[in-house]
Amino acid sequence: MQKKDLLIVGAGPAGLSLSSALMPDMAVTCISERPSQKASHSRATGIQPRTLELLHSSGILDAVRREAVTLRGNIIYLDGERLRALSFFDPASGEHGLSLDQRRIESLLAEQLERNGRSIEWGTSLVDLEDLGHFVRAEIQRENGSVEQWRCRRVVGCDGGRSAVRKLAKIEFPGHTYEERSFVLDVLVQGALEPGYMHFFVGKESRLVLVPLNDRGTFKASGALPPGKTGTLEQQFREMVALHGRGRLSVEPLTPLTTYVMHARLADTFRIEDRIFLCGDAAHIFPPNGGQGMNLALEDAHDLATALNLFAQSKERRHLEAYSERREEARRALESVCAAKDRYSYESLLSGVNFATEQERIRQEEL
Ligand SMILES: Cc1cc2nc3c(=O)[nH]c(=O)nc-3n(C[C@H](O)[C@H](O)[C@H](O)COP(=O)(O)OP(=O)(O)OC[C@H]3O[C@@H](n4cnc5c(N)ncnc54)[C@H](O)[C@@H]3O)c2cc1C
Repeated sequence: MQKKDLLIVGAGPAGLSLSSALMPDMAVTCISERPSQKASHSRATGIQPRTLELLHSSGILDAVRREAVTLRGNIIYLDGERLRALSFFDPASGEHGLSLDQRRIESLLAEQLERNGRSIEWGTSLVDLEDLGHFVRAEIQRENGSVEQWRCRRVVGCDGGRSAVRKLAKIEFPGHTYEERSFVLDVLVQGALEPGYMHFFVGKESRLVLVPLNDRGTFKASGALPPGKTGTLEQQFREMVALHGRGRLSVEPLTPLTTYVMHARLADTFRIEDRIFLCGDAAHIFPPNGGQGMNLALEDAHDLATALNLFAQSKERRHLEAYSERREEARRALESVCAAKDRYSYESLLSGVNFATEQERIRQEEL
């Protein structure tokens, strides 16, 4: 049985940033089934101002700034008419948000990781895991089908919403599954959309969110398709665009439309003793409307790296315990992010009960 000190499972934003933020002399093994660069469409695009500092410490902020689009705010439309706008300006940092395709952010993180002398074992999956008290047994499958048993001192699940680490460690993932038919694809937009903004179209039965990926008209389109419609997904999408755009918006698909089910779920714990940890979507998933998932995955990763680095130097377990405590606070923040999904619903926009907080009201006035 091979011995591993620290096994990181998954190389999305969480696994890549964790690997890069751990001290260079730490023995780290990072495995991942596949890079998300291979996905046909983009997932996360929005980078919150607070995340810029983390990208700086990962060494990729300059590259991100060169390639990203500045996101000044969110323009909300109700039944095709502009309702209001929300600024993304963060007075604390003096920054707006940025938009860059998650696949590109992952490529930049992976390139930086290699420059720092660490690499990812791609095409390698965790298929079984057993917490044996003083170590964790991990069963690993290679792309050629061969299976290996590893004896690991610590395992971190950065393996996304369907996390094998979380399931095999029997950590509950309670929460809610939404009934709506969520979709995502990349599109080319022609029409009078104000540049530098995310555009959020809400109707009684459907929702269309357009986020700029560059300044050449490429957007990520996501949202919810209307229920009970017939025809191909592309036809349903085009009808929905016509409804929200009122004939003023031309949207051409660049990738196939993918549908998915949206969840809001939080793991019961982020840590089992000092042997098993969860990070990123493995620990929490929620509707992408708030644009928080990748940002929180990066925060978790940097927080856990700090805890593991301090523990390696001092051998004091309180540093590992602090990881769970700090993420507990993030959990609470997440709950309000989940609730935000409902505040952007047709009914709440219509009745004007959204943007209830003072901070949001001030931000609207700034625009
Ligand atoms: C349509 C959509 C839009 C989104 N928009 C935004 C947005 O605007 N802003 C935002 O912040 N977030 C957004 N998100 C959420 C964001 O994509 C996720 O929160 C983010 O990818 C989480 O990163 P992660 O590293 O935790 O997990 P993931 O990115 O899911 O990475 C998990 C990795 O683990 C690997 N893996 C899985 N199982 C195993 C296994 N058993 N063994 C080995 N490897 C394994 C996978 O191949 C993958 O590489 C969006 C998500 C969706 C679906």
